[in-house]
Order: sequence, then C-alpha cells, then structure tokens
Amino acid sequence: MATMVHDRYAMLIDGEAVTTAAILPVKNPATGETFAEAPAADADDLDRAVAAATRAFPAWRDTPLADRKAALKEASKIIEQHADELAALFTREQGRPLASAKEEVMGAAFWFKSTTWLDIPIDVTEDTDTRRIEVHHVPLGVVCAIVPWNFPVLLAAWKIAPALMAGNTMVLKPSPFTPLTALRLGELIAGCFPAGVLNVITGGDELGPLMTAHKGFAKITFTGSTATGRRVMEAAAKDLKRITLELGGNDAAIVMPDVDLDAIAAQLFHGAFHNTAQVCVATKRLFIHADIYDQLRDRLHQLAKETPVGDGAEQGNRYGPIQNEPQYRRVLALIEDARANGLTLLEGRPVPERGYFIPLTLVDNPPDDSRVVAEEAFGPVLPLLKFHDVDEVIERANASEYGLAGAVWCNDLEQAMAIAHRLDTGTVWINQNLQSTPFTPLAGAKQSGFGQENGVPGLLEFTRPKAMYIPKAPAGAVSDPAAMAS
Ligand code: NAD
Repeated sequence: MATMVHDRYAMLIDGEAVTTAAILPVKNPATGETFAEAPAADADDLDRAVAAATRAFPAWRDTPLADRKAALKEASKIIEQHADELAALFTREQGRPLASAKEEVMGAAFWFKSTTWLDIPIDVTEDTDTRRIEVHHVPLGVVCAIVPWNFPVLLAAWKIAPALMAGNTMVLKPSPFTPLTALRLGELIAGCFPAGVLNVITGGDELGPLMTAHKGFAKITFTGSTATGRRVMEAAAKDLKRITLELGGNDAAIVMPDVDLDAIAAQLFHGAFHNTAQVCVATKRLFIHADIYDQLRDRLHQLAKETPVGDGAEQGNRYGPIQNEPQYRRVLALIEDARANGLTLLEGRPVPERGYFIPLTLVDNPPDDSRVVAEEAFGPVLPLLKFHDVDEVIERANASEYGLAGAVWCNDLEQAMAIAHRLDTGTVWINQNLQSTPFTPLAGAKQSGFGQENGVPGLLEFTRPKAMYIPKAPAGAVSDPAAMAS
C-alpha cells in the first residue's frame, strides 16, 4: 500500500489508503515552513471510517484474545523496524531532537508489546454449591481516539494497544499540528489487523467536534487540554458515550533542604524542560525550600545558559522549538506578562531566530497569583517558588484546579511519603520525575482528567462489565428467592 506521494500522506480507512481533495498543510516548527500535506477529512470521510470500524467490530470482538495480542506484538515489531524512519518524520513535524523522538517511537513499540502482558480479568463474585457469578469485561464497540501534538506517537499507542486488545475497533485522530507520524504509523501496522479495525483520519479544527458528536462511537478516549476536555464531555453527554479524559496539569515539584543539589539539579531541570516543557506531567511550578533556594536557582540558571536549543534534526541540540505557532505566541505572551509585571526573568542560552524558538527561561520567585504560576504554561518558562515550611508548600502546591502529577525531592523517605500523601494528584514521584509504565494507571485528579489510562484499570476503560449468573444444577433446581417471596 503506497500512501505517500512526495510529501502527501493518506488516511487509513477500511484498510485502504484514502486521500482527500482538501488538504492540511504541515509545518516544520524549526523553520515555520510547510513541508508536507495531510488529508483534511470531512463528515463523509468520518462516516466511512466509522462504518468500516462498525463492520469490523463483531469479528474482531470474537477473535480470540491470544490472536488479538499476537496482532499487537506484530505491530510492535514493525514499529521497532521502522523506528529510524518514524523518528526522522517525528522530528520534522514535532520538532523534538532525533534521539528523543526515537525514544518515543521505541516507547510506543514497547507499549504495544507490553500491553499484551496484561490480562482482562474475569471477576468471580460468588461461587457456591448452586451457582457461580462471573463478571466479564467485554468491549464497547467503536472507539473515538483523539490525541494532542506533544507526544503524537506514544499517546496514540496508549490508546490503540489497550482498545484493540480489549476487542474494540477504532478511529484515531491525531492533532492537526502533528498528523504525519500517526498516518505513517497507521500505514505501517494496518496489515496486522483486519480491515476496519484501526482507522486513522486527519483534519482541521472542525474534525474533533464532528467525531465527538458522531453517534457511531461507543467511547471517546481523549488526551488534550482541560478546555477541550470539557467540550468533549459535553458532546459525550448527548448519547452517554463512555469517556476517558487525560487533560492538562500545572504540576508542582517540592524540593526539601536535605537534598544533594549536585546530584539532582540536572534531573530537576530536565523534568521541567523535556520536550521544551511541552509535557503534561512536566514540573511547571518548582517549589524550593528557602535554605537552598539561591543555590538551586543559580545552578538551574547555569544549566539554562549551557543547554543548546535548536533544530531537532541537528546534532547536539537538547531541546527543540515550540511545536506550533499558536502555542509559541501563547508562551511569548506569558513571558511578556511576567516582564510587564516586573518579575525577574533568568534567560537561558540564545536560540535560533527562525522557527518557533524561545530561550529556556526561569522566573525568580514570582507571586503565586501571577499568570506564569497560575496557568499551565506548556512552554519553557518555569517559575521557581520559595517556601519555608511543609504545611505552607502543600497548601500552595494543591491550590490549583489541576491535579495531574507532582514530585517530592527529599532524602528523608518518611517525610517525602508524608508530603506525597498530602498532594492532590493522580501521580506522585519521589526523587524522580516523568516516569510512567504500561502497568500503572495515569489518572488525573480534579480537572486534570476523568478516568485513567494504562495498567489493568486503563485497559478496563475500554470495556464494560457483564455479569453472568451460571447455575450448577439443571434449570428449575435452583430456588429463586424472589419467586419464594411472592
Ligand atoms: P487540545 O485540547 O488543543 O487538542 C487536543 C486534540 O483535541 C487535538 O487532536 C485537537 O485537534 C482536538 N480537538 C480540538 N478541539 C476539539 C473539540 N472541540 N472536540 C474534540 N476534539 C478537539 O490540546 P493540545 O494543545 O493539542 O495539547 C496540549 C494539552 O494536552 C496540554 O494541556 C497538556 O497538558 C495536555 N496533555 C495531557 C496529557 C495527559 O495524559 N493528561 C498528555 C499530553 C498532553
């Protein structure tokens, strides 16, 4: 199946490569220039994709679990075999340096494989002489999967692997800013599944709402901003589609005074600036104990001055550009707001003038109600916040509508655990950050999410429970308490 003509890509619908008359230009954020075109699906294309997934569902649902797992393992192998090619494309459309792009692609391959190590449980709620009650977890039907631009391959894998393993079929939509790796991924792994099981469509801003309103979907799994998540939830309410929402965060990391700054400064720095700070679980508010504040601030500033930021395709750059122009303008506006309010900005190494680059920037102890602290920046501007005692810092860390993840840096593990227990987040890391595994649910608290991804709980979000009452005696031999009562 040849879907790429020069730099034009095709969608995957019903096992076929499908192009559209309308196109979606794709820019390289390191240059701001368009280098490729993706299809721009309309309502008819969406209908075709949903119809294909609907037709494919019964047979895929009835395919033995072992065979569905085998298909995912095969997909994992294919992704690994094409990791270099996918990583190069990833860097061109997303901006992230090549080595890190490849890590994400390999991470997606690992997720496809390791999801198959999970099992769909059958819960037994009663097992007596007369009957056994089993709760099975059965697939929902056609899943609508919508992903953002910051981790376009991994976050697609987090949805495709568990949804398909559980026996659902899917229509996947990547972000209009990063459509290409998802299209190429779909093309590469299409042959692992019967036609229609996995469909990948791309389009502009109007496609997401068309999808969430479509009656053919039983479930929406969405990763993106909290603002869009609210719209998705509203749309889902109309016909009570099941939803999983992985949304924004304004994650706090708390650094206690007993840490070894030499040992952790670089880790703290990367925890905030990985992927140019466009990570839902990145440290976005760094609380530092007053006793070590000046030392750590200076170390972090030194790192910002030393760290090369530039085109991800050029060797040596640690971080790339902001992924897209609207986000670039948003982050610049946040920095401007900080400057206009007299906050102290500590700038990192100069960045290329062309493309959507912003120097890694620290903000020296701004007030908690400044925009740069209160909003999810999702870009390389990190507020450093001084604190004096534990109760105070926990209150300030929890004073957010978000509750995605948080981190505690402290050598006294008992104290670290005590702080961790008091953070209102779905994940807490102690002396580490940015970790996730296929076996551990990621579940945002408060307005960071609804439901969970990964692990058995994440897998079960693609199923519904079905209770089966199984007699151990012939029909009529088991007494019916309801009949006896009447
Ligand atoms: P976004 O909400 O703008 O877009 C996400 C996806 O939703 C895109 O594919 C977009 O086309 C689509 N979309 C836009 N409007 C829609 C609508 N009305 N209905 C349906 N779909 C619609 O988010 P973004 O800017 O692409 O991504 C950044 C955000 O994602 C950040 O807030 C970040 O924290 C969050 N995020 C969360 C997680 C997590 O696991 N919790 C992971 C990564 C990113």
